[in-house]
Amino acid sequence: MTKTAIVTGSTSGIGLGIARALAAGGANVMLNGLGESSDGEELRRSLVAETGAEIALCAADLSRVDEIERLVADTRLRFGQVDIIVNNAGVQTVAPIEDFPVERYDLIIALNMSAAWHLIRLTFAEMKARGWGRIVNVASAHALVASPFKSAYVMSKHAVNGLTKTVALEGAEFGVTANAICPGYVMTPLVEKQVPETAKARGLTEEQVIRDVLLAAQPTRQFVGVDQIGALAVFLCSDAAAQITGTAIPIDGGWTAH
Ligand code: NAD
Repeated sequence: MTKTAIVTGSTSGIGLGIARALAAGGANVMLNGLGESSDGEELRRSLVAETGAEIALCAADLSRVDEIERLVADTRLRFGQVDIIVNNAGVQTVAPIEDFPVERYDLIIALNMSAAWHLIRLTFAEMKARGWGRIVNVASAHALVASPFKSAYVMSKHAVNGLTKTVALEGAEFGVTANAICPGYVMTPLVEKQVPETAKARGLTEEQVIRDVLLAAQPTRQFVGVDQIGALAVFLCSDAAAQITGTAIPIDGGWTAH
């Protein structure tokens, strides 16, 4: 039977790469992104044309619990059930902790961390009842190691790993796996935005940030591709990955091997 996946933050970057890969693999996909209207609808149509999958869009703001509930309700209404969730929506702010804007801290914790907990809370029982489910949390290399000036982000991503392990244990006897994907740097709008912020925080030029901060972290000296992360997510959602659970899998060009 066709599986249904919710991929949060899938109108851009990594989430879009995962949504595209799951749809190409035959899953129904509920897209989600903040504030998209006509652009989101255009994207949805182009993914349908490209993959032939059933694809819907819900522009819920996942920093709010009532909106997370709406995302789940809309998915059930459209597709009947939820088999796969990919907690991917996330934001970043780069600033020294003493200057860190408190409203950005609150947003990072709500979106990167709490939204994942709520979406799992709202869909776990039905996955357990059917004896099959896949939870893929897009964490980060920053779930395993830290960098300066990213206190809220590093905190939120380490927490996602703890959540992943706990949920893996709770789902283990019910055919429900939970794993975290830990990407290194991927050139998406999230990273493009932090180049000038990091330049300011570290007193560097933007070129120096890309060469000496971002790619310096990755021994391959290359950015990770969204298609590579999509392929890993599809594998984790396959039956071949049924015994992989509770893991944090780096896809980071060797960064966390240091
Ligand atoms: P992106 O900025 O390209 O995309 C973010 C997505 O989240 C968009 O679809 C946006 O609409 C959505 N979003 C933002 N705020 C939202 C909200 N309040 N409610 C619902 N959706 C919202 O970012 P990306 O680089 O693709 O990052 C995706 C995930 O991957 C994040 O969790 C990020 O921390 C993680 N990550 C990114 C990198 C990287 O180098 N780009 C590395 C490691 C981990």
